[in-house]
Amino acid sequence: MPDNSEHHRVVIIGSGPAGLTAAIYTARADLSPLVIEGIQPGGQLTITTEVENYPGFPEGIMGPKLMDDFRRQAERFGTSFITDAVSKVELGERPFRITIGKRSILGDVVIISTGATAKLLDLESVNRMMGHGISACATCDGWFFRDKEIVVIGGGDSACEEADYLTKFASKVTIIHRRDELRASKIMQQKVFDNPKIDFLWNHVVVDFIGTETEGLQGVKVKNTKTGVESVVKPQGAFFAIGHKPNTELFTGQLELDSVGYIITEPGSTKTNIPGVFACGDVQDSIYRQAVTAAGSGCMAAIDAQKFLAEQGG
Ligand code: NAP
Repeated sequence: MPDNSEHHRVVIIGSGPAGLTAAIYTARADLSPLVIEGIQPGGQLTITTEVENYPGFPEGIMGPKLMDDFRRQAERFGTSFITDAVSKVELGERPFRITIGKRSILGDVVIISTGATAKLLDLESVNRMMGHGISACATCDGWFFRDKEIVVIGGGDSACEEADYLTKFASKVTIIHRRDELRASKIMQQKVFDNPKIDFLWNHVVVDFIGTETEGLQGVKVKNTKTGVESVVKPQGAFFAIGHKPNTELFTGQLELDSVGYIITEPGSTKTNIPGVFACGDVQDSIYRQAVTAAGSGCMAAIDAQKFLAEQGG
């Protein structure tokens, strides 16, 4: 039976800074990339408010606006888009097959930029106040809490690193941890124990956030895990640091992933273990996780993909 699948030279899965930068570069190389942008296009920046650390915007820029500009730039050079979620990826042979519901797409190369998702608590108040006093990115949002009190939720390296970083701005940072012992490495633990601006609320979990989009955060309702007693602390900002989850479910069993699910790329490149499949952005980066580093690796993936296609004969 003839295969009526659409065939593209470059298929990019994911539409954050990494995927859209890969699109801009491959589009400008006349490869007419297809971006499958998911059902909530734009990645993590679309859930932040103002982005003040992306170079080139001295006055800052709103996250959604930045991603819209990335998208328009990619479109201008001939990128096409599908606003839907990929249901299946088959990377066993080239061209690779990507399925979206009933639609089947073939790609000579695939660039994966599906990102990572910060783990949050499943509370209605979190959805309502994300970007209005609640954040999951200290480097993105710490600046907004100058001389304010902040809580950081979590007990791993991220929580310690974020808490330490946030003391540059905040008058006081309290780490709320569900146990009485940090999971973080000893060196990070020492750093937070030595920091006079950091305090700890041990054996507590957050049960709710109090506040509104307009008033901001008014309080955090916590519960003692030993006694069950609930109380309210009153910071102006709350940062989640309970881990990130790379969005790699589609690739499990096909691509080499590390022990926590990030795609392993060859050092200094975006090559995965499958020739012709490249990964960029947070899906392969558990360390930097910045829009600008994601964009940089998207550019690398585009160049790696072009080189691969040229080596395959065009
Ligand atoms: P992590 O090590 O998985 O730590 C997550 C923390 O959040 C744990 O303390 C955990 O508590 C807590 N937590 C998880 N779910 C929770 C929930 N529902 N409610 C309350 N607390 C919850 O994640 P991470 O800190 O993001 O680190 C991820 C990886 O990156 C680690 O391998 C880490 O070493 C690495 N990393 C390294 C650096 C560095 O070297 N500079 C910096 C950042 C991250 P429990 O401890 O009770 O499980």
